[in-house]
Amino acid sequence: MYRIGQGIDFHQLAEGRELWLGGILIPHTKGAVGHSDADVLLHAICDAMLGALALGDIGKHFPDTENKYKGIDSKILLKECYELIKRKGYQLVNIDSTLLLQAPKIKPYVEQMQVAIAAIVGLTIDDVSIKATTTEHLSFIGREEGVVATANVLLQKSVLITEELPIVAVAMEPAPPTVTEEGVNTTLPQQN
Ligand SMILES: [Zn+2]
Repeated sequence: MYRIGQGIDFHQLAEGRELWLGGILIPHTKGAVGHSDADVLLHAICDAMLGALALGDIGKHFPDTENKYKGIDSKILLKECYELIKRKGYQLVNIDSTLLLQAPKIKPYVEQMQVAIAAIVGLTIDDVSIKATTTEHLSFIGREEGVVATANVLLQKSVLITEELPIVAVAMEPAPPTVTEEGVNTTLPQQN
């Protein structure tokens, strides 16, 4: 049994903020604005996982009106989302994502992001795809006013690990006595 999910997230960029993308801090003149650490890529992945099981979105599970999520590391949110998925009996198969931003170039950081994400969701980096594109200076992304991420995930129903269960020998019980009109007959019924 497979389920597919997609997620998309937007954040404004502003000076004086840190730029967290894919679970790592990227040196840049601007950072993403948000209630949490505003990691747009991790938020899109969270939404894709929740969406795959029709569990709503990240805002439903982690409202930005709650103080406890202020400035929170989005890796914690990703971990909690994956715990929800696992409790529903599913595991991740792979993630494919795209970051849309004009600057900085994120190619030097992609592998670090893959490692950070894979470690949280128990995948290898081969199962965590992170692509990036500019918008050729078009739109709010091209003007470096904001950053967008999209993600798709595939979930698979968890395989029952039956080999870890203890093997219990089942003893054959003697047949229970049969009840007749004359009383309890402890002998087996005759086979004709
Ligand atoms: Zn977000």
